[in-house]
Amino acid sequence: MKNAEANAGASPVGEFDYVIVGAGSAGCVLASRLTEDPTVRVCLLEAGPPDTSPLIRAPLGFAFQGKNSPINWRFDTVPQKHLNNRVCFQPRGRVLGGSSSINAMIYIRGTPRDYDTWAELGAEGWSYKDVLPYFKKSEHQERGESERHGGSGPLWVSDLRYRNPLSEVFLEACRELQLPLNDDFNGERQEGMGFYQVTQKNGRRCSSAAAFLAPALGRDNLLVITDARAERVSFDGRRASGLSFRRGGKTEFVKARREVILAAGAFQSPQVLMLSGIGPAAHLKEFGVDVIHDAPEVGGNLQDHLDYIALRRTRSPDTIGMNFSMISRLPGAILAYKKRGEGLLTSNLAEVGGFLKTDPALPEPDVQLHFIPGLVDDHGRKQHLGGGYSCHVCVLRPKSRGTVRLQSPDPMAPPAIDPNFLSDDDDLRRLIKGARMVFRLLDAPAFKPFDGEQLYIGRDPDDAAIAADIRNRSDTIYHPVGTCRMGSDAKAVLDPQLRVRGVEGLRVIDASVMPTLVGGNTNAPSIMIGEKGADLVKAA
Ligand SMILES: Cc1cc2nc3c(=O)[nH]c(=O)nc-3n(C[C@H](O)[C@H](O)[C@H](O)COP(=O)(O)OP(=O)(O)OC[C@H]3O[C@@H](n4cnc5c(N)ncnc54)[C@H](O)[C@@H]3O)c2cc1C
Repeated sequence: MKNAEANAGASPVGEFDYVIVGAGSAGCVLASRLTEDPTVRVCLLEAGPPDTSPLIRAPLGFAFQGKNSPINWRFDTVPQKHLNNRVCFQPRGRVLGGSSSINAMIYIRGTPRDYDTWAELGAEGWSYKDVLPYFKKSEHQERGESERHGGSGPLWVSDLRYRNPLSEVFLEACRELQLPLNDDFNGERQEGMGFYQVTQKNGRRCSSAAAFLAPALGRDNLLVITDARAERVSFDGRRASGLSFRRGGKTEFVKARREVILAAGAFQSPQVLMLSGIGPAAHLKEFGVDVIHDAPEVGGNLQDHLDYIALRRTRSPDTIGMNFSMISRLPGAILAYKKRGEGLLTSNLAEVGGFLKTDPALPEPDVQLHFIPGLVDDHGRKQHLGGGYSCHVCVLRPKSRGTVRLQSPDPMAPPAIDPNFLSDDDDLRRLIKGARMVFRLLDAPAFKPFDGEQLYIGRDPDDAAIAADIRNRSDTIYHPVGTCRMGSDAKAVLDPQLRVRGVEGLRVIDASVMPTLVGGNTNAPSIMIGEKGADLVKAA
């Protein structure tokens, strides 16, 4: 369908300097930073509603955002060939704050080497030395400012105000196994085990919307439209000139004087690009989309952290889940949270974990662990009565690559997501080694008093049994990136200034720009991309 036709009859919302699609981790930063200049007018479109639910602000509330939540896109993948053809789950935030409103709040940047690799691969200006100032700019580190941490940014990074006794047991098990300990994974070295720092302010979730957007909402030069789903970018010749979007069953149109910026995340930024005629030409033609620019790599290079979970039952009264002890603790927990921003409700569940090497000769950790004092099965969609604990392990720099494609020319349809998990055998080999480390930890003496039945797999599994369990149950730990790769080569979707190659006035600024997945959780890197992206836009 031609863009001109798509916009016929659409009602104009007005004209802005910049139109941003998606109020997620990166989009909120962009809207806030660009409107610091009062002469610049910005329109921010978000497909989801405002972030008013108390289950967003209360950290433990995120446990309820998986199964049927209306603020979660709840995407399915295509059947995964190397995971017994299972359809995997891909939750994503669909609300102001995007995925930062439903995530586990862990603040991790990855390692300096991750960013130096980006620069080596052609993302000029994105080495660690280049991006560190942007991490620091956004950060309000509760422990104070330092060489590696910012002290006066809007994004609060705090120590957890609650530590579940089972999380302490996990750390004791790490000590017993003489694993290195680490109290700052974003400091001098990443390797080691410890409590994570979280994006929380006074015990409340500090999403990108809370940190960046809320303080900017009063500005006259910012219009935020919620429940507005971008359909496609429109062009004047090869220049992006605006965008059509759906609101309340009607198509509307907004004009961009300077730029349209896609910040719709690793699945939907490439989807909007393809719907707008920028993507692999043959694929677009298949869906009747007029090709504006043949960009074969749009939607390619999808990378994600595949995660395996060991689950054990326990009689410990400290377990979090569907059990009597939890119910009896709730009234006190609600009071402590409301009065002082403390207690169980400030838990992010994944309180403790860390980064390990599956081979001591490696230059840096290649697996990450998250321990949860509850039974987390199938993203919390499968409930178990009683108590337990779970330990996740994921491969940090997977070699498998997948795709995001259209499955319909209808912008309301979900994209076809194929992470192609375990298409590279090296990922499986590392995940098996990581699972072995997890089993060793859960078998450590510290856990003995709490130890119960292990679900799904026997106590002394060989590699084949672990591989079979991985294929049966592993799934994402929610870090898809890379589908609009930046780089200096002609094939890269974006140049290092995050401009879409082949057209003008169009950028992508979110997790999809990463050339390679960083070794860690991806919220802080997405926020950093928003910070640096805003400066690149301002400098144009
Ligand atoms: C359950 C879960 C737990 C996680 N836990 C952690 C964690 O503890 N720590 C961590 O660092 N990372 C975590 N992550 C990952 C991290 O939150 C994401 O990597 C990061 O938020 C991605 O930022 P983004 O800006 O690229 O996209 P998003 O934050 O997902 O934002 C995209 C926004 O665009 C909107 N949008 C999409 N399409 C359209 C459209 N067509 N029109 C209008 N709006 C649109 C979406 O609704 C969304 O608001 C987690 C993610 C999930 C889902």
